Amino acid sequence: AASPVHVTVTGAAGQIGYALLFRIASGQLLGPDTPVRLHLLEVPQAVKAAEGVALELDDCAFPLLAGIDIHDDATEAFAGTNVALLVGARPRTAGMERGDLLSANGGIFGPQGAAINAGAAQDVRVLVVGNPANTNAFIAAAAAPDVPKDRFTAMTRLDHNRAVGQLAARTGAPVTDIARVTIWGNHSATQYPDLLHATVGGRPALEVVGDDAWVRDTFIPTVAKRGAQIIEARGASSAASAANAAIDHVRTWVDGTPAGDWTSAGVVSDGSYGVPEGLVSSFPVTSDGGAWQIVQGLELDGFSRGRIDASVEELVDEREAVRALGLA
Ligand code: NDP
Repeated sequence: AASPVHVTVTGAAGQIGYALLFRIASGQLLGPDTPVRLHLLEVPQAVKAAEGVALELDDCAFPLLAGIDIHDDATEAFAGTNVALLVGARPRTAGMERGDLLSANGGIFGPQGAAINAGAAQDVRVLVVGNPANTNAFIAAAAAPDVPKDRFTAMTRLDHNRAVGQLAARTGAPVTDIARVTIWGNHSATQYPDLLHATVGGRPALEVVGDDAWVRDTFIPTVAKRGAQIIEARGASSAASAANAAIDHVRTWVDGTPAGDWTSAGVVSDGSYGVPEGLVSSFPVTSDGGAWQIVQGLELDGFSRGRIDASVEELVDEREAVRALGLA
């Protein structure tokens, strides 16, 4: 049998962790032929709850689950790991300034990046889910100088999937008919969900929709503010859909994107589309099963350019704040 792939999940006792771990253990992250060994990282006060989740995982008798380790130490949790899902983060609480938020998260993602640098497997792939995800990924990557930068990614797949869902609902097309949707920039309310190059059943999405006002006044804000809508309706943050997007992100990274299509991910910029090199920004990306590539050569209209620039500006500001705090 294949030897197990080591998967580390931080914030394992949280809401997203609870929706994520059972799907990983059942084979939905790495496929039906790949055994997984789980490493759960939690803060000390949540270790007991993580142990409870591990008991439930045992009770599923998943054929692919080769073992579970629980850690409160990052160095141990990331030793030998192949896939690192960084979910646990310090949430913004009422009255918290951005500097406080970045500082609290720098204290989490800096040491985690250093632990990945010190001991993760050569082929490690990192997905940051915990917010502010792009900048947390930037901090972790900066703390891991020996790990190739393209192994650090931030999740915008949930925004991408939300955009696909909204376009499918509007056009009546099945989601499988929708291609080339893009999320640009920061995973925040400034993100730019872009339909300029999207297709529905092979036709330009904007032509099928035929209503620019809908795109501007309904589609974009609905996608960008969906998280708040879910909190309002459920009384709690999205969790299952975030976990689903994390699964999709890694699965696409490992399996590759279908010919002719792309997806969205926060990756370290190489300067493409004028996004300053080194920032972790969402782009249209393809995967060949090994690494992400930024889709090149897309024409952008003035509206798109302005939206991308505004979101990238926010990322630049976050980077400046992180540097001012000495976090990267
Ligand atoms: P969740 O599991 O609901 O969320 C975890 C993180 O994912 C948050 O930062 C959240 O950001 C973020 N997130 C990103 N995208 C989404 C999305 N679309 N919808 C919802 N959340 C999203 O948080 P819990 O509070 O339930 O659990 C967090 C766990 O992490 C706790 O058990 C805590 O102990 C642990 N933790 C572990 C650390 C570690 O392992 N070292 C460090 C810090 C915390 P947002 O808050 O902006 O919604």
